[in-house]
Amino acid sequence: MRLQHKLLNWFHKNQRPLPWREHYRPYEVWVSEIMLQQTQVETALPYFNRWMKILPTIESLARCGEKKVLKLWEGLGYYSRARNLHKTAKLIMEKHGGEFPNDYDAILSLKGIGRYTAGAIASIAFNQGKPIVDGNVLRVLSRVYMIKTPEQFSASLPRSAGLNLRYARGSARIRTNIWDLEESLIPKGQARFFNQALMELGALVCTKDNPRCGICPIRRFCVAFKNNKVANYPAPKKRKKIVKVTASALVISKDGKFLIHRRPEGQIMGGLWEFPEWKLARNQKISLAEIKEKTTKLVKNKLGVETIGLKHLGTIKRNYTHHLETLYVFLAGTIDRHKSKVRTAESWLSSWVGRKDFRRYPFSSAHAKIAKLLA
Ligand code: SF4
Repeated sequence: MRLQHKLLNWFHKNQRPLPWREHYRPYEVWVSEIMLQQTQVETALPYFNRWMKILPTIESLARCGEKKVLKLWEGLGYYSRARNLHKTAKLIMEKHGGEFPNDYDAILSLKGIGRYTAGAIASIAFNQGKPIVDGNVLRVLSRVYMIKTPEQFSASLPRSAGLNLRYARGSARIRTNIWDLEESLIPKGQARFFNQALMELGALVCTKDNPRCGICPIRRFCVAFKNNKVANYPAPKKRKKIVKVTASALVISKDGKFLIHRRPEGQIMGGLWEFPEWKLARNQKISLAEIKEKTTKLVKNKLGVETIGLKHLGTIKRNYTHHLETLYVFLAGTIDRHKSKVRTAESWLSSWVGRKDFRRYPFSSAHAKIAKLLA
C-alpha cells in the first residue's frame, strides 16, 4: 500500500474532531488557519468557538466594529492578523458578494493570506490540489525523505517512499523544493484529507521531540527511521539571540477611574489599549530602585504628573519575536492637584476607565493581566 493510502486511512481513524472539520466551510477554515498560526489547537479552540458564536458569517465579521474584533482576539497575539481578517471580510463583501472566492490566485491576493494560508483554504475548504507546508508538514517530509534543508534541496528520493513520480523515475536524483514535493504527493481528489493528514501526523505522531515511530502508519516509507537518523532531521534552525528588555507600566487613577491609552495604528500591537508603559533598558541589569527612579522621571516628563511614590504591584514576563520582557507594574501615588493635569501623547487616544468597563477594551495579554489585577 502506498504512503498516501496508509496516511489517509490513519487520518480517517485518528483525526481530532475539530469544529472547522464538521462542514469545511471556507469562512471557518480561513479563521481557524489564521488562529492556528503559531498557536496550538487546544489554545485556539475556545477562541474559535467564541468567535463563531458572535461572528458566524463573513457578513457579521465585516459589519463588526474593530474594537470588538480585537477584543475577541485578545490573548492570541499578532493582532494584525485579526485586523486583516476584518479588512478582508469587508473586501469579500464588496468584491465577491460575501462569498469566499475559490480561485487560488484570488485567495492569495487577499490581505493577510500568504502561500501557506491560500494553500490551506484551497485544499481544505475547496479540495483543490494545492500544497501546504507548515512546521508539521516540513518536519514529516524532512524525516520521510531525509532532507536536511527542505526549502530547496537536491536528493535521491526512493520510489518506495510513495513519491508521485512527476519529478523522478526510480530513485533518480531530483532538485526541487519542499512545496513542489508536497504538491506532488497529493492523491487526485484527496487534497482536503491528505494535507490535513500530513499536518495531523506531525502534530500527533511525528512530533518535534520524541516522535512515536513505533505507532507511525508510514514508518515503512520513512528513510530517516530506516537509517536510525530521525533525531537529525530536520536540521535545527539557527536561533536569533534573545534581547532582554526591562519595562515599567503605571496604574494611575482619578475618581475611581484608570488611565489607559490606545496604541496608534501601524505600531506593534496597534489598536490595542494599555496602561502607560515605558521601555527602560535592553540587555542590562537594573535594580528595582533604578526602575522606580526612571519611571518617576518618565511619569513627570511624559504625563506631567508628580508622583509621591510608586508602589510595586507585580511583575509580568512576556515574550515577543526574540524579546523577553520583564514588565514592572507600579501604582502611582500622586499629589491630588496634579491628577487633573495628566497629559498624554497627541497621537495616542486616552481614556479614564472604571474597573467594570475594562472588559469592553481589547488589551495585549500583559495589560489584560494588569486589568484583571485591578478588577
Ligand atoms: S517513522 Fe518516525 S520519523 Fe518517520 S514519519 Fe513516522 S514518526 Fe516521523
